[in-house]
Amino acid sequence: MKILVLGGAGYIGSHTVYELTDAGEDVVIIDNLETGYKEAVHPKAKFYQGDLRDRAFVDSVLDQETGIDAVIHFAANSLVGESMTNPLKYYDNNLCGTKTMLESMVAHGIDKIVFSSTAATYGEPEKTPILETDRTEPTNTYGETKLSMEKMFKWVGKAHGLRFVSLRYFNACGAHKSGEIGEAHNPETHLIPLILQVPNGKREAISIFGTDYPTKDGTCVRDYIHVTDLAQAHILAVKYLMEGNESDIFNLGNGIGFTVKEVIETAKEVTQKPIKAVEEGRRAGDPAVLIASSEKAKKVLGWKPEHADLHEIIESAWKWHSTHPEGYQSK
Ligand code: UDP
Repeated sequence: MKILVLGGAGYIGSHTVYELTDAGEDVVIIDNLETGYKEAVHPKAKFYQGDLRDRAFVDSVLDQETGIDAVIHFAANSLVGESMTNPLKYYDNNLCGTKTMLESMVAHGIDKIVFSSTAATYGEPEKTPILETDRTEPTNTYGETKLSMEKMFKWVGKAHGLRFVSLRYFNACGAHKSGEIGEAHNPETHLIPLILQVPNGKREAISIFGTDYPTKDGTCVRDYIHVTDLAQAHILAVKYLMEGNESDIFNLGNGIGFTVKEVIETAKEVTQKPIKAVEEGRRAGDPAVLIASSEKAKKVLGWKPEHADLHEIIESAWKWHSTHPEGYQSK
């Protein structure tokens, strides 16, 4: 297969490209390197640096790269806090970029797209575990733009025959087994990389945001899912569309929740180092518990998380962070 990966230099995008090239697929990447890294681009992939909002650029790539079977779309801004202080940045990049890309795909007769969506499309959950049929009421601009992107695919599908799979992930984490690529955000806001900054000597303590939630130890519960398992789900979703199946939406998580304190304890075991934690107030907008039901992805796509153990997830993250304490060198 020949797959165009949008945002293939980012965290989940780069891991998906590694899995695709390992499987012998032909990969073309578009990334503007605003939040992605050149070093995360797989050497076997063909790389075009540019912005999805630039129609002439996107057209020129699709004119040159004939025979693309499907697109996998990761190219978006994804910081929840920033999306609340600068919502129009999220509308501009996430929605306008997708609109331009879809125009070009329709013009070039490319009719399959797998989309990197998020649990943030649900907002405050109605119940646990969350099903794909549950209410979607995002509580931040990031989730709202991702939900709008899903809807854009639906309506473009009705008009132009595009088919899509939207994958709503829970807490992506971990790193590639090689230790060559991993998670690197600037600024970093995610729990596991922030915890690992403590044993790495980059941070004195990890803050625990809220200890009065109605959970077993008072801290928030999240469903942590290994990035390589997410990558595999994208490949299965492409195959699902290649087999002629209908557009659909799937949750991706392990279906098991861990509290913030449990994640810190596991990180201590993995790193064999003390990790100082400081209890603070709640972070605005954090639901107490987010756990996925991924039964549908298992049943329909045949997906099975292979790295569900939290110890293994943090071990893979530590392999990356301990050898790349500054992240990638290019920024
Ligand atoms: N969290 C925390 N301290 C931090 C960062 C995150 O206690 O320095 C908590 C956060 O409140 C949430 C969980 O860790 O309950 C996971 O947060 P993250 O930002 O990694 O992912 P989210 O669930 O927001 O997508």
